[in-house]
Amino acid sequence: MDMQLGSARITRIEDYHGPGLAPEFMFPAIQKQMWHDSPEWARRFVDLPENRLLTSIHSWLVRTPHHTILIDSCIGNHKQRPSIPHFHMRDVPWLERLRAASVHPGDVDFVMCTHLHADHIGWNTQLKDGRWIPTFPNAKYLFNRREFDRWDSRRPDYAARPINDNAFEDSLLPVLEAGQVQFVEDGYSVDDILTVESAPGHTAGNVKIRVRSGGSEGMFAGDTIHHPLQLHYPDLCSHFDEDPGVALQTRIRMLNDCAERGSLLMPTHFAAPFCCRIAGHHANGGYLPDWNV
Ligand SMILES: [Zn+2]
Repeated sequence: MDMQLGSARITRIEDYHGPGLAPEFMFPAIQKQMWHDSPEWARRFVDLPENRLLTSIHSWLVRTPHHTILIDSCIGNHKQRPSIPHFHMRDVPWLERLRAASVHPGDVDFVMCTHLHADHIGWNTQLKDGRWIPTFPNAKYLFNRREFDRWDSRRPDYAARPINDNAFEDSLLPVLEAGQVQFVEDGYSVDDILTVESAPGHTAGNVKIRVRSGGSEGMFAGDTIHHPLQLHYPDLCSHFDEDPGVALQTRIRMLNDCAERGSLLMPTHFAAPFCCRIAGHHANGGYLPDWNV
């Protein structure tokens, strides 16, 4: 189903939707009582008997009057991710889903990654004749330089994280070597509709991407927020946040901004209905989402 924000047409391209990580792994500070102390909507995003967060991993496809843009590229197929079984050697019809939205890989003009964790860069490349090649032959891949350097395993100061084992080699370096990477700064804009904004904390060079057209606004949040429970408890920080304190400040600023501007919040990992608006504040200091978007 497409959404229209001004002249921007937005389509969700699914990689995975269903049970995900255990709540206490994703949010080390979570307490079981929080689910019961939350409004009813929060429990729609968890399988309590199975102790699994309900999650999604998807790309957002944005079509402006001039360009076709892919925001985040999920896990990818055939990637060696031995430390994360869920990401390891997948074979998912993600490209077929893209084609079902009437987009051929050659049509994509820009790939924008909110950050360079393995579940946001996988379809940057695909395996052809034993080699990783860019999936989108005509695209510029827009990366934040600081973020790219963070995951560059060739650097002597590289700090490895299991989530990104092999990811630089199979999903980033082939795109760089093909000459398709363009490093962009905070404030960089595509068609005056999409704007890159710094959102540090989850990773050093994490960004969010604002969409603004015809008086409508949206926010591609990436992993600045992971799960709807963080709307009610914004202080909950994810296991994957490299700097949880900074990530928290960034999350609060973004949610306040969405509340003030009436922006549609479009994270990467919210399960159905995948996005919401922020209607106001809850008495506990959290936010009141409006899921009827
Ligand atoms: Zn992610």
